[in-house]
Amino acid sequence: MFFSEKYYYIQTFGCQMNERDTEVLSGILKQMGYQKADTIENADIILFNTCCVREKAENKVLSQLGELKDLKSKNPHLIIGVCGCMVQQEGMPETIRRSAPHVELLFGTHNIHELPDLIENILVARNPQISVWGSEGEIRENLPSEREYPFKALVNITYGCNNFCTYCIVPYVRGRERSRYPQHVISEIKDLVADGVIEVMLLGQNVNSYGKDFKDISVDFADLLREVNKIDGLKRIRYMTSHPRDFTDKLVKTITHCEKVCKHFHLPVQAGSNKILEKMNRGYTRESYLELIAKIREYNPKAVITTDIIVGFPGETEEDFLQTLDLVEKIGFDGAFTFIYSTRTGTPAAKFKEQVPLEIKKERIQRLNEKINKIGREINEKYLNKSVEVLVEGISKTNDQMLSGKTEGNKTVIFPGSTSLVGKIVNVVITEPQTWILKGKLQEI
Ligand code: SF4
Repeated sequence: MFFSEKYYYIQTFGCQMNERDTEVLSGILKQMGYQKADTIENADIILFNTCCVREKAENKVLSQLGELKDLKSKNPHLIIGVCGCMVQQEGMPETIRRSAPHVELLFGTHNIHELPDLIENILVARNPQISVWGSEGEIRENLPSEREYPFKALVNITYGCNNFCTYCIVPYVRGRERSRYPQHVISEIKDLVADGVIEVMLLGQNVNSYGKDFKDISVDFADLLREVNKIDGLKRIRYMTSHPRDFTDKLVKTITHCEKVCKHFHLPVQAGSNKILEKMNRGYTRESYLELIAKIREYNPKAVITTDIIVGFPGETEEDFLQTLDLVEKIGFDGAFTFIYSTRTGTPAAKFKEQVPLEIKKERIQRLNEKINKIGREINEKYLNKSVEVLVEGISKTNDQMLSGKTEGNKTVIFPGSTSLVGKIVNVVITEPQTWILKGKLQEI
């Protein structure tokens, strides 16, 4: 067979959207007869599935591509390709080809389904293949997929983003929002559950705006959650990412009443100052964000609330930063991903004056992290001697004598136990709460 006994290696950069795309790329390559290679050196096809959210990550990709030159000289039949968001930027395919001429395959996030043809064209004629649509494409259903976990799965529900936060490149490279029809989402999840999946993560750049683009039906994210919640055999429903602006009362109530939807609310606030939120074009104020959190807690007293925060956005003064610290204190987040603002070419914020010096950004993020860690630790202390339900995901990455899993609130729990528990939901009593993890032991029945 044309494609038999060949191996592929995919290196994934960036977010869960990219992880999901990698599963589809793997599925396509498997269908073509390729097997997953153990190491990059053994591969016949190497793909870098890239992210362009941070300019530093792009530079890393370019430098790693340079390092593949030797492999290509040793094996001229090797196909090296780059796909994902980075390639979707204007002029980037040409830049990559110039800096790494051994890269013969470049395709965007909307062109994944073309992979078999692109590879075949290279194999037959050895012509470099570049396939990048504009910024949008129709949604392709039923592409093959090689899922990473048998018990949990990522499921796309929307692609693209209409929000144009001033620091973010995503709308320019992933295009406008497009939702998958509910019947396609439901059917995919039913198939996954039939294959043993018990937890799904519904994915989109802004899941809360799901359905706004439908012209022929009226369905929103809350409606979709209600339908997914009805699927027999499914135990947990997560979603990522939620935008505070689009988090409606209907959605809060639906999440409250759908017993399978995890009561983990990850709501990126980004800043606590209205001036900065406006400059970021986030579409909400600190007051409306505080109201939203109060409402979530009113309906879900045990809600776990986490966030993302950017420090040192252009024009951020000490006073603005203190407002962020104050918001963090007022809300008492369970945890937060914090980032130092870095300019991203192609975004409006990259041209903003009043860029904050790096030293100040570093000092602020340290103060912020100290506060977040202190609050997170205090919240976690309350879990001492409590029993939590944990979906066991595998052996702990930090301690190979322990299993690791997640609570409904997405807290990491590690505890001793048999690997036969992987993929199951078990009760664990917390014996040692820490800042980032909860240590425990299996609850005796
Ligand atoms: S909501 Fe804002 S930060 Fe998130 S992907 Fe869209 S533009 Fe980027």
